Amino acid sequence: MNYRKRFTVPSTAKIDLTKIDPDSTAEFKSKKHALAKLNENTKLLTELQYKLYAESKQSLLIVLQAMDAAGKDGTINHVMAPMNPQGCRVCGFKAPSTEERAHDFLWRIHKQTPKNGEIVIFNRSHYEDVLVARVHDLVPKKIWSRRYEFINDFEKMLVAHNTKIVKFYLHIDKQEQLSRFMKRLDIPEKQWKISDSDYSERAYWEQYREAFEEALSRCSTKHAPWYVIPANHKWFRNLAVSEILVETLKSMRMRIPEPSVDLDEIRKLAEKETR
Ligand code: ATP
Ligand code: MG
Repeated sequence: MNYRKRFTVPSTAKIDLTKIDPDSTAEFKSKKHALAKLNENTKLLTELQYKLYAESKQSLLIVLQAMDAAGKDGTINHVMAPMNPQGCRVCGFKAPSTEERAHDFLWRIHKQTPKNGEIVIFNRSHYEDVLVARVHDLVPKKIWSRRYEFINDFEKMLVAHNTKIVKFYLHIDKQEQLSRFMKRLDIPEKQWKISDSDYSERAYWEQYREAFEEALSRCSTKHAPWYVIPANHKWFRNLAVSEILVETLKSMRMRIPEPSVDLDEIRKLAEKETR
C-alpha cells in the first residue's frame, strides 16, 4: 500500500493521536523482513536526490517534529546517509534569540528554506510556535491561535516556488519515552544527550498531545501534508519515512538536464589526444 496515503493526516477532521498505534509496523513482522525494502529505499534515495540536484528546478523541505526522544536525530541520520552532502542540509531550531524574537515567527524559518535542487530537513520548525509556545503560554492565545493560518499561507507560498513539503510527526507513547530516557541514563555514550527539560516536559505530555493534534489537523493540507509515523520501533520509523520520501520524490518527476555542450565535439578532441 501507498505509505503516503496510509500515514497522512486527513485535513477534514481533528486527529486523535491516542487512536494511532505507535507500535505499528504495518505489513512487516520484524526488521529482518523489512531489510530488503530498507536497502532498496536507501538506493532509491541516492538516485532521486542526485536527480533533484542535477535538475535544480525544485526543492524538498522535510519537517520533523516529535516529543523528546522520539528519534528525530536517528531519523535524520538514516535519511541523510544515502545523500550527497552537497545537495542537502539539516537545520535545527532552538529557542529563538533576542534578535529572532524581535521579528515575526517565520522570519528565521524563511531564511533556511531550500533553494532549487536542495533538500533541507528542519529538526524542529515553525511548528514550535504553536507547540511549546502554546503549552507554556510564551505568547497569548490571541497570538498563537492565528499562526495556523499564517503557517498554511507561508507553506502555500513555498509550494508555489516549487518547494515540495513533507512533515513528519514521529509518534511514540509515554512509556516508550520513559524507557528511552532510562536507557540514556545507563549508556555513558548517550548521557550527554540528557537535558533537564527533556524530563520536565514529560509533565506536559497531554498538553503537547493536544497541541500536536491541533497543529497536525489544521496544517495538514494537500500541498503540505502531515504524516504520523509510528515510531516505537526505530527500524519501522526509518522505513516509513524513507518510503514516503521515495514516493514524494518520485512524484516530483525530476529530469536530468540535457547536456549544454556539443558532446561529439568534445569526444573528438578527447580521442585525438589519446591517439
Ligand atoms: P536534542 O535534545 O536531540 O539534542 P533538541 O531539538 O531537543 O535536540 P534541545 O536543545 O534539547 O534540542 O531543545 C531545543 C529547545 O528549543 C526545545 O525545548 C524547543 O521546544 C525549543 N524551541 C524551539 N523552537 C522554539 C520556539 N519557536 N519557541 C520557543 N522554544 C523553542
Ligand atoms: Mg532535547
